[in-house]
Amino acid sequence: MSITDPNAPLVVNLLLTDLDGTARNTVSGQVCPTYPRDQVLVPKFDQLCQGLRENNWTIAGVTNQGGCESLNPKTQRPYKSHRQAVAECRYFLKLAPWCDRVYVCPNGKMSDRDEVYVVNRWPGLWWRLWPAIHEHNGFGEHPYYQVSGKYRKPGSGMLELAIRDQTEGEYSEAASLGIKPKDMFEVQVRAVMVGDMESDKVAAQNAGVKYVPVEDFLSYDNVDDLTLGLQQVLSESA
Ligand SMILES: [Mg+2]
Repeated sequence: MSITDPNAPLVVNLLLTDLDGTARNTVSGQVCPTYPRDQVLVPKFDQLCQGLRENNWTIAGVTNQGGCESLNPKTQRPYKSHRQAVAECRYFLKLAPWCDRVYVCPNGKMSDRDEVYVVNRWPGLWWRLWPAIHEHNGFGEHPYYQVSGKYRKPGSGMLELAIRDQTEGEYSEAASLGIKPKDMFEVQVRAVMVGDMESDKVAAQNAGVKYVPVEDFLSYDNVDDLTLGLQQVLSESA
């Protein structure tokens, strides 16, 4: 297939990134943020992702926030509320303009629940309309999706959802430009996951997505080398 092939699919590169210990650290020194502003980006990660974004990559965060369910022994209450986890993701999006959206699973390890929030920059939807629609469930406390899947990493649910959203997003963008389905390019999303834990690696495997440990990601000196490195990872056979 050549680049001039009119039937060649539209290839979209998607970087899925873990947050804690990969893209960000905390100000407090805790593993996960304890309040929304308790986060700083890893400078080199920030810089490389900015470059990837300029090279047309889409970047989405994928984070477990089991602290929404595990109980603080001192208070007998969860370490954080769902609302706080969402607020943290929103603050992350503010710090990281290169990140398009964040998927956050608020369930703990032994949880029998399976939930995910998709946090993006649509201010109207989440912050104004959402609480009005879901008033009964408290402000921002209602999972955006609550379908069967294994969202908590090492489950593949968040990664699969991110890829699905990306694919659908490309088609709906084409539709909004007035392109008819029969005239649309086939969209092919090629995803790579970057993370710092075994659960990130296994989640990628479970989703059939290539994986790059964060130390490898950060070993690239500039975005051109990183882009080539990621392309190489993508082209390796499984
Ligand atoms: Mg991590």
